[in-house]
Amino acid sequence: MNRTHTSRRQFLGSAAAASLALSMPAIAQASPRVVVIGGGFGGASCARALRQINPALQVTLVEANRTFTACPFSNEVIAGDRPMQAQQFGYDRVAADDIKVIIQAATKIDAQARSVGLADGTTLAYDRLVVSPGIELRFDALPSFDEAASARMPHAWKAGEQTLLLKRQLESMDDGGVVAISVPANPYRCPPGPYERASLIANYLKTTKPRSKLIILDAKDAFSKQRLFQNAWQELYPGIIEWVGLSQGGKVTSVEPAANTLVTEFARHTVQVANVIPPQRAGRIAEIAGVADRSGWCPIDPVSFESKLVPNIHVIGDACIGGGMPKSAFTANAQAKACAAAVVALLAGEAPTVPKLINTCYSLVAPDYGISIAGVYQPKNGLLTDVEGAGGVSPLEVPRDFRAREATYARRWYQTITAEAFG
Ligand SMILES: Cc1cc2nc3c(=O)[nH]c(=O)nc-3n(C[C@H](O)[C@H](O)[C@H](O)COP(=O)(O)OP(=O)(O)OC[C@H]3O[C@@H](n4cnc5c(N)ncnc54)[C@H](O)[C@@H]3O)c2cc1C
Repeated sequence: MNRTHTSRRQFLGSAAAASLALSMPAIAQASPRVVVIGGGFGGASCARALRQINPALQVTLVEANRTFTACPFSNEVIAGDRPMQAQQFGYDRVAADDIKVIIQAATKIDAQARSVGLADGTTLAYDRLVVSPGIELRFDALPSFDEAASARMPHAWKAGEQTLLLKRQLESMDDGGVVAISVPANPYRCPPGPYERASLIANYLKTTKPRSKLIILDAKDAFSKQRLFQNAWQELYPGIIEWVGLSQGGKVTSVEPAANTLVTEFARHTVQVANVIPPQRAGRIAEIAGVADRSGWCPIDPVSFESKLVPNIHVIGDACIGGGMPKSAFTANAQAKACAAAVVALLAGEAPTVPKLINTCYSLVAPDYGISIAGVYQPKNGLLTDVEGAGGVSPLEVPRDFRAREATYARRWYQTITAEAFG
């Protein structure tokens, strides 16, 4: 708090000195301009944090959609346990913080001129730019899985219409049908998300279509909170979920949308409902800005979140290479606050403080059964790295009310994080 006030005073002091000889309009322009692209968990949190840390900044948030649809808890929507409205947020309260919210897609970035081009042809000038565009689905990475195929085999990995499509497909499936979830290799958005989804769909099948089955076709041999998930599946959904890892031939190599078939190295699975989660990369604007490398993700300085490729552009959330930090809403929000503090410091000519960041990922295995994993991260050797001995996972052997409490903590976490991001 003290440091913030000092920074602001120093900043205002130096801005005032520099403007002595200038005319009034020039003084009005003297407060630094920060543009944030992407009004999701990272971008909206960052815009709000910037204004909170230094109310003198001119902050503009550029977001493509009028309504944001959150992914956390969207698996409950798919399983019919939650209304879609509980996932949706507007930007009125963000704008009420004196943040200029522009509902448009950013289409160009000129790093030399420090300007952002919008879809309507206008441009915005910035002193510092924060990019938090989330993910792009790599429709090029899985033969025959393109946008048209996703209308039949939904990914539901960006929440919205796809979430509802998958829900409808499950509802219209016969009892005795097979559901398949195809999971990509790391890194991808929300490492435990596919297994939470499998659990909640299994819960739906158990209660409404008990002769049905669910198969997870996985492009890796181990996954987040694996023992906790697998123990819970044995306890809650015996005989319903089958997990096929990479070495058992779980990697989906192509799809045949017309037949609802997933092809792996060893087998073909023709199913009633196919949820195909394809490989991913940083949102397209990151590539346009030149901040994504050949991996498709964006390398950053772990102290300031400034791009290692383009100066004055910071990248946070799913789009960045977060070292040990998983791609989660919790991570995006934590990085947003650290990045905002760094941007304020840099604009004031100060060195950013070295951050320590926390992530906790909750997963629901059933509506009243939660498990979690937590980690603490700090910059080391150019990456965000696990602080050894910090964090942990839910214990394996605990009474059921412990799991119920974790489910309550998960719901409270969602309320807190969405209030922080969207007001
Ligand atoms: C099924 C599922 C469950 C999940 N559950 C959890 C959970 O329980 N806990 C958790 O912590 N995380 C969870 N996540 C992960 C979480 O959703 C993401 O990690 C988080 O949304 C990342 O935040 P972000 O700001 O990077 O991207 P997003 O929140 O996706 O925001 C990106 C925003 O940028 C906008 N945008 C993109 N390009 C442009 C452009 N060119 N111009 C203007 N706007 C643009 C988009 O419209 C979007 O609003 C889950 C994800 C899934 C898929």
